[in-house]
Amino acid sequence: MIVTMQPGATLKEISAVIRSLEGFGAQPSISRDCGCTLITAATSKIPIEDQQLRSLSGVRDVHQDVHPFKKVSRDYHPEDTVITAGPAVFGGGRFCVIAGPCAIENEEQIDGVAAHVAAQGAKGLRGGAYKPRTSPYAFQGLGVPGLKMMRAAADAHGLAAVSEVMSISQVAEAVEYLDVLQVGARNMQNFDLLREVGRTDKPVLLKRGPSSKIEELLLAAEYIVDAGNPRVILCERGIRTYETATRNTLDIAAVPVVKQLSHLPIIIDPSHAAGKREYVHSLTLAALAVGADGVMVEVHPDPSKALSDGRQSLHYVEFSALMGDVRRLAEFRAPVGV
Ligand code: PEP
Ligand code: MN
Repeated sequence: MIVTMQPGATLKEISAVIRSLEGFGAQPSISRDCGCTLITAATSKIPIEDQQLRSLSGVRDVHQDVHPFKKVSRDYHPEDTVITAGPAVFGGGRFCVIAGPCAIENEEQIDGVAAHVAAQGAKGLRGGAYKPRTSPYAFQGLGVPGLKMMRAAADAHGLAAVSEVMSISQVAEAVEYLDVLQVGARNMQNFDLLREVGRTDKPVLLKRGPSSKIEELLLAAEYIVDAGNPRVILCERGIRTYETATRNTLDIAAVPVVKQLSHLPIIIDPSHAAGKREYVHSLTLAALAVGADGVMVEVHPDPSKALSDGRQSLHYVEFSALMGDVRRLAEFRAPVGV
């Protein structure tokens, strides 16, 4: 619900609208746009009767919600949200590159990747310490020792540390070591986990579920914001379709759709979408061209020996070549650049 006041509305008239909204159990907030005061009520316990609001003095217009999500909606927050996590900035026209291995394997591996990707212009270091694997016999990640290795590597090379939390019990320890908490595709609708990361003060990278609609992604983000954490970065990582040529089908249109519906930044993960390293370069450039706020790319010192997702991980030389093209294309996109 958004109430637009007349341009000259008085404090008394604005207060009356706020009291009326509070009467419906809503939590109104005030902003100004185009010379008018806007009063938005994102939550209400009982349905708000717009007739009652329309009859109040100084009210110009009343808009009922058109989307089920509220706090993440552009209707409530017209400007883009810009999220800073150490050296990584998401939104505001920049193209932020997060890169690193699928999983943290040992100190030498994560430090080596961090050195390489930082030198090429990446701002975030990725790497899983808790790995959601399809098979229970596959490498499950190093846990806290892995998080410590990631923190050291990120600090040594001036990168933001980005890693996944799979359960509520991992959140407190992850907060100690990370700059961005990742919620993986499989957990996009783990509502308890969403609320838990919503109670932290760390930016959350929320990946779209393989079978989720954009609206469901935004509602998952709403859980985090509603729990008190407004710093959510969305991530399109491909969805499951009938196509088998790629691991998932990258829904590139999700970027303009999300940009229209929401103020939150959105990045693309071309690695998990493609599943094959030879497609990662072009999909990254597509992400830049379509207006995404960044990418998260898997890079490994020796993909043939990677403990997970080697087939989609870039070699160092491939990542360097990619960053060269990203810089060139970024010049055409926005004044802020990479
Ligand atoms: C990951 O980024 O490490 C990962 C497991 O990706 P997704 O959750 O998108 O499958
Ligand atoms: Mn992976």
